[in-house]
Amino acid sequence: MKPGYEAVIGLEVHVQLKTRSKMFCACRNQSGAPPNSLTCPVCLGLPGALPTLNAEAVRMALVLGLAVEGTIQPRSAFYRKQYFYPDLPKGYQITQGPVALVEEGHLDVPGDARVRGKEGPVRIRIERAHLEEDAGKSHHDLDAHHSHVDLNRAGVPLLEIVGAPDLRSAQEASDYLKALHRLVVGLGICDGNLEEGSFRCDANVSVRKAGEAAFGTRVEVKNLNSFRFVRQALEHEIERQTALLEAGEAVQMETRGWDASAGETRGQRSKEAAMDYRYFPEPDLPLLTIEPEEITAARAALPELPDQRIRRWQEAYGLGLDEAQTLAQSPAFATYFDELARLSGSGRGAAAWMLGEVSRTLNERGISIEAFPVEPKKLAELVRLVDARTLGFGTAKEQVFPVLLAGEGSAEAIVAQKGLAQIRDRGPIEALVLQVLTAHPGPVAQIKGGKESLKGFLVGQVLKAGNGRLDARLVNEVLAEALAKS
Ligand code: ADP
Ligand code: MG
Ligand code: ZN
Repeated sequence: MKPGYEAVIGLEVHVQLKTRSKMFCACRNQSGAPPNSLTCPVCLGLPGALPTLNAEAVRMALVLGLAVEGTIQPRSAFYRKQYFYPDLPKGYQITQGPVALVEEGHLDVPGDARVRGKEGPVRIRIERAHLEEDAGKSHHDLDAHHSHVDLNRAGVPLLEIVGAPDLRSAQEASDYLKALHRLVVGLGICDGNLEEGSFRCDANVSVRKAGEAAFGTRVEVKNLNSFRFVRQALEHEIERQTALLEAGEAVQMETRGWDASAGETRGQRSKEAAMDYRYFPEPDLPLLTIEPEEITAARAALPELPDQRIRRWQEAYGLGLDEAQTLAQSPAFATYFDELARLSGSGRGAAAWMLGEVSRTLNERGISIEAFPVEPKKLAELVRLVDARTLGFGTAKEQVFPVLLAGEGSAEAIVAQKGLAQIRDRGPIEALVLQVLTAHPGPVAQIKGGKESLKGFLVGQVLKAGNGRLDARLVNEVLAEALAKS
């Protein structure tokens, strides 16, 4: 950011809710089915078809509202937002009106110290979160002469989460988006697939002179389907607007699209010609009413939130923020880790295994933790053995973990059977150390001459002589003593 200027950013996020059926009909809510196979008179907008509200979508919106500590409006209404587009069969979208189901919530994100002037979290307000329906999908590139419309997505439930213009840098915007993504995935209300459009973000951004009270003219950037694109597009747009202001020119209120291959935003349409959507209350749906008991029940059922989990892990196990965030990647992964940490009694050890061998296996096999073949209890035994230094990490990784993966035996049995337990008696280690020192008089002399780095070489020789079964910490200790004495 150029000194003397300040960026102001507000994000609008569309979250596809993971309900079984669509928002106003019984059609399956699912991607990847043959085009137009998941449709019915309601989502095709046939005359006379009547919508029925999906209670599960309402429950999910309520859960999100409570998780962001928002106000749940006891009465909110659905409206018709009219516009013409081929993938909108009814000629209007059903969305919520001036009152949203959720209002005035917030999400805490790490502040960007470079623009805030200090470290620490900042609270980003959420203006509202309202329910609406998705449109179908137009395909313009399937053949040269026609466009194709697939209405499987028409009527899929969306929760639009409108953030206040409280973000001050591209970094903060991307952190906010990641926190929101973690939250909706953690709550189990969205599958979080950015590429497939389950979690979509439009970014509003303006630039003003530092210290000015009024916001600058904003530009809306669309088509941001990755966290990296959000960051890049906002950085680019902030720079572009700042340059305009520097040159004494005005920023045009417009919608721009992010062109990832060109690495820039491009003008799409001017906001001056903004549409009049002729909103009016949807006559075919009753008021959406939420009873106090429903709120109480939903609040009681609220799980531990991803960011609460992350903080708990940081405090209890001393994990770094990045490590903890990676562990919170999905509810199932986080739950597996929690189990592993509890059963092994070692949060650090469990984290290392989850971020190391477990993740590597999942990537290699292209599976998620739900399909991981080793149950937490079995892996915990291995974590415990390594933590207690009964087993060397290398041996655990190379000789025990693969056997567990193959579904054979328990860690303790494998260690006993193959005789893998580490040698932790000083006697045999001292003997091997002596052997190695005698065999390598050159390096020993060099170490005595100050070349400390050669110690690692000698340790390696001892470990090798012990066939990888010696406790490395003890070897280091014994070697240091022997060197001091010799
Ligand atoms: P619209 O009706 O065009 O969507 P809203 O008032 O609903 O406009 O605001 C949409 C988004 O734009 C919100 O996320 C809000 O935080 C953001 N926003 C509003 N004004 C500004 C501004 N001057 N600079 C950056 N973001 C802004
Ligand atoms: Mg809006
Ligand atoms: Zn339908």
